[in-house]
Amino acid sequence: MIKYIYSDYIIQKYKKAITFTQQNHNDWDTFITKFPNYNLPKTLEELISANTEVLSSIYIYSNTDQYFQKEAEKLKFLYYDMKSGDIIKFFIENRDLLNISTCLYCNMTYVNIFETKEEEILDLLHTASFNELKTILEIIDPSIEDKSIKNFITKLNKNKKSRLEDYKNISGMKTLIDKIISYRVKQQFDIDHFLPKNKCNLISLSINNFIPSCQVCNSRIKSTRNVYRIGMTSKTLECLFPTSPNYNYSNEMKFIILSPNNVKPTSYVKLISDCELLLQPTTSNSVYQKEALSFRIQDRYRYHIIEPLTYLDKLNHFNDTYFNNLKNNSNLNEDEIKFLKESLFDDLFRLKNQRIFEKLYSDLSI
Ligand SMILES: [Zn+2]
Repeated sequence: MIKYIYSDYIIQKYKKAITFTQQNHNDWDTFITKFPNYNLPKTLEELISANTEVLSSIYIYSNTDQYFQKEAEKLKFLYYDMKSGDIIKFFIENRDLLNISTCLYCNMTYVNIFETKEEEILDLLHTASFNELKTILEIIDPSIEDKSIKNFITKLNKNKKSRLEDYKNISGMKTLIDKIISYRVKQQFDIDHFLPKNKCNLISLSINNFIPSCQVCNSRIKSTRNVYRIGMTSKTLECLFPTSPNYNYSNEMKFIILSPNNVKPTSYVKLISDCELLLQPTTSNSVYQKEALSFRIQDRYRYHIIEPLTYLDKLNHFNDTYFNNLKNNSNLNEDEIKFLKESLFDDLFRLKNQRIFEKLYSDLSI
């Protein structure tokens, strides 16, 4: 599980991307005056950019105060579904700034966004035959009728535009153009709500509650998980957010490889069936132990044990003595040796580019 802090710049951009009506603002003002003892964000902008400590408090109010929860649920505009389109769009448009490569929960799956270039789509619209267009449109909408495709082509021929968005303003074209646009950019990640939105709608639009994650972590595993336990303080809860500055998972949970009788073998790979991969807490009572268990990190990594074992064998063989000998007995200079090391282990590359299994490898390198 990876710590990820949204930058101030991203948070400012997010506040601008999500907009509310005057009525929404008025409703929020009325809501907060009902709970003067709770330190609630003064504005909706503050709410959607609230830090993890504030989000934890709000979540606990909602889980312990039925009146608060009931009143909050009346604020229908604060449900995720109301803004999900804008939120996904925000993540897609700012993907380079966000710079998130792997699922923040498991660090074993890449999350990405892929797209067909706009020019290529326009080219398709301007020159494609009926059958070519049909092939694409059927991917998005299998029930599409030949008649509406023909109609669409007639309109395309009459109105050539140089931007996809411009077609939306032409009467009768918007529906199919929207489908084409949704085909063009696809995101291969889920925006998980760290604190479940169904137990507290107030935190469902807050950026610090969003964890870009893979589908396994978001759907199948998360459904059985309950991050908040009765009696938990907002301080403890806050430390569990990967987006919290106090998130200390990386130090408190470490991967280790156990070999038979704890003897370092000459080859881990040869002893694969007797080796064990464990994810262990470094302190007693680590709050992250349950988190790791709920995402079944150890079980999921075990399946890939060949990766760390191969790495350990390389570390064993290509050790300091090996490189010292190489330095003394070859014509290679320092830089070349460094390059050779990096080519063997990929350590810098993995760290710099946030590759999968980054934590696993760095834990084992020590
Ligand atoms: Zn994941």
